[in-house]
Amino acid sequence: MLVDYHTHNSLCKHADGTLEEYVAHAVKIGLTEIGCSDHAPMPDDFDLQHRMNIDQFNRAYKPEVLALREKFKGRIAVKFALEGDFYPGTEKYVKEFNSQHEFDYIIGSVHYLGEWGFDNPVFVHKYDERNVDDVYDQYYAHIKRSAASKLFDIIGHCDLVKKFGHRPSNNMEEVLREVFKVVKSADMAVEINTSGLRKPVKEVYPNEQILKIVHEYRIPLALGSDAHSPNDVGKDFDIAKELIHKYGNGRISIFTQRQRSEVAVS
Ligand SMILES: [Zn+2]
Ligand SMILES: [Zn+2]
Repeated sequence: MLVDYHTHNSLCKHADGTLEEYVAHAVKIGLTEIGCSDHAPMPDDFDLQHRMNIDQFNRAYKPEVLALREKFKGRIAVKFALEGDFYPGTEKYVKEFNSQHEFDYIIGSVHYLGEWGFDNPVFVHKYDERNVDDVYDQYYAHIKRSAASKLFDIIGHCDLVKKFGHRPSNNMEEVLREVFKVVKSADMAVEINTSGLRKPVKEVYPNEQILKIVHEYRIPLALGSDAHSPNDVGKDFDIAKELIHKYGNGRISIFTQRQRSEVAVS
C-alpha cells in the first residue's frame, strides 16, 4: 500500500487544482489512499489569505471530499482530513471544530511564531533580524505544545523551520528528545513530508537526526507530499519509502475516523 496524506487544493488560495484533480492524480500513480488535508478554517479571520473560511468548508470542501469518496470508491480510498494550525489561544476553537465533523485525521502543523509566518517566502528576511537559535527554540516549544494539546493525530513537517536553509548553532539533540517524548505520550504519528525537497533546503522533513529519535521511541510514521499542485501528489515517494524502511520498519500509519492503524508500504 502507498498513501499520500498531505494534499491541498485551490480553496486555500495558494495551491492549484481542484480536489478531484488531486484524487485523479493519486489514482493515476497507483496510490491506495489519498488524504484531502487542506488548511483548516481558523477563528477571527486568522490567516484568511492562506485558507478557506468556514462557509467554504461547509459549502465546498466537506461535501466535495465526501462526494469524491463515493465517486472513487473501489479505485482509491479518499480520506476527509485537514491540516490544522497550532496557534496558542485557538485551542478551544480547534477542539470544538474538529469534534463537529467526522474527520479521518487532523495534521497538526506550526506555521506561525507569534505574528510571523516563518515559512512564508515573503517574510524570510525576518530570520536575519532574529537569533536563529532562538527561532529554533521557539519553534520546538510550539511543536511540543501542539503535541501536548492532543488536538491532532499527525505532527506535520516537524522541522519546517529549516525550510530556507537556516540552521541552529547547536545540535538540538536534548531539545528534540524532550519534544518527541511528548509526541510519543500523545500517541501521535510523525509525518515524512517530501515537500522540503522542492524548497530551498532540499531535504525531506524531518531530518535523519529526528527520524533516529522517532525510531528509537517507536513513534509511528505517516506519509505526505504536501502537494500544492496535483502533479506533486506522491512526489519523491521513492526517497520517502527508503526512510520508512530505515526508520519505520517499512510501515506507515493510516487513519479512519481518527483511529490509527498501520500498513506495510509497497
Ligand atoms: Zn499550504
Ligand atoms: Zn504545512
